[in-house]
Amino acid sequence: MKLLFWVLVLALFFFVLGFKRGRPDRSTAPPAPSPSQRPVAAPAAEPPPEDMVSCAECGTHLPISESLPGRGGHFCCADHRVRFEARLG
Ligand SMILES: [Zn+2]
Repeated sequence: MKLLFWVLVLALFFFVLGFKRGRPDRSTAPPAPSPSQRPVAAPAAEPPPEDMVSCAECGTHLPISESLPGRGGHFCCADHRVRFEARLG
């Protein structure tokens, strides 16, 4: 069993090594166009910041779009919403 483990580790090692070598080298890539030739690209628009809420049960912070609204606030998962609302009665 130990041998199998080491064979797998070596296989993974050589796989990663081969993967890195397979990538195009920057030095052989064609030179980047000069600034005058480069098309003017607008800076990447960042998405607007999203409101963060914390789970009323465990306090985990998460984006409001990923939270579950419930009685007493927002929750990180349905399980916490059920637990919190069960305590409310
Ligand atoms: Zn939670």
